[in-house]
Amino acid sequence: MRTTVGIAAPLPGENHANLLPVFVGHFGVGLAAKRVAPRTSLGWLIAAPLLLDLLWPVFLLLHWETVRIKAGATVVTPFEFVSYPISHSLLAAVGWATLAGIAYWTISRYARGALVIGACVLSHWVLDWVVHAPDLPLYPAGAKYGLGLWNSVAATVVVEGLVFGAGVWVYARSIRATSRAGRLGWWAFVAFLVVVYAANFLGPPLSQVEQVASVTLLLGLMPIWAWRFDRRRVSVVAAY
Ligand SMILES: [Zn+2]
Repeated sequence: MRTTVGIAAPLPGENHANLLPVFVGHFGVGLAAKRVAPRTSLGWLIAAPLLLDLLWPVFLLLHWETVRIKAGATVVTPFEFVSYPISHSLLAAVGWATLAGIAYWTISRYARGALVIGACVLSHWVLDWVVHAPDLPLYPAGAKYGLGLWNSVAATVVVEGLVFGAGVWVYARSIRATSRAGRLGWWAFVAFLVVVYAANFLGPPLSQVEQVASVTLLLGLMPIWAWRFDRRRVSVVAAY
C-alpha cells in the first residue's frame, strides 16, 4: 500500500521497526569522538552525527522533502525516502558538516573539536549509506546510493550493535565520572537508547508522517541530556 505524506497507513506486521528511521550507530560515533576531542562537550558530539536527522523532520514539515510510509519498503523500516536532497544528499552533508565545524570553531576556537564535529556530521551520510536502500543522492537530483543493510534484521542489529557498543566502550574508558550524578546519568542514557532501540522493533507503528517528524524532532533532547551528564565527568586521556 502506497500513501502520500500525512495520510500514510502501513500494513501491520510487515516491518519490524516502525518508530524512527534512526540508527543507534550515529550515537556510537558521537560517543567515540569524545576520545578524539576530549575538550568538546558530548552534547555537541552527539548532536553532530544526528544533525541530518534533526534537519530532516523540519524539512518534512515544511514540505521541502518527502517520505512515504510504505509497509515492506525495507525489512527493518517502512520508510520510503522519496526525496531528501537538502538534508541527505552527500553534497548537502558536506555543506552541513562545514557549517557545523565553522559554527563550533567560532564559539570554541578549538580547531580539533571543530574538525571532529565536521567529521561526525559527515559520518551520518556514510552510516546511512550502509543501511539505507539506494535512496541517498550524491547531490540534488543526482544518482542514488545505499547498500541496503535494512533488508536484513540480523545484519542491521549486528552492525548497529557493534558501532553503538564500540562507542559506549570507548567513552566509558576515556571519561570518568566525577560524581554519582555523572555516573548514573551516563548509564541511564545508554539504557534509554537500548530501550528505545528495542521499542523501535517491538512497538506499535506510527501511521502518519507528521508523527514520525515530531518523534524524530524529540531526538534534539538527547544532546542536551548528553551535555548534562558529560559536565559531571572528566577525561582520563590527554586534554589535547
Ligand atoms: Zn539519516
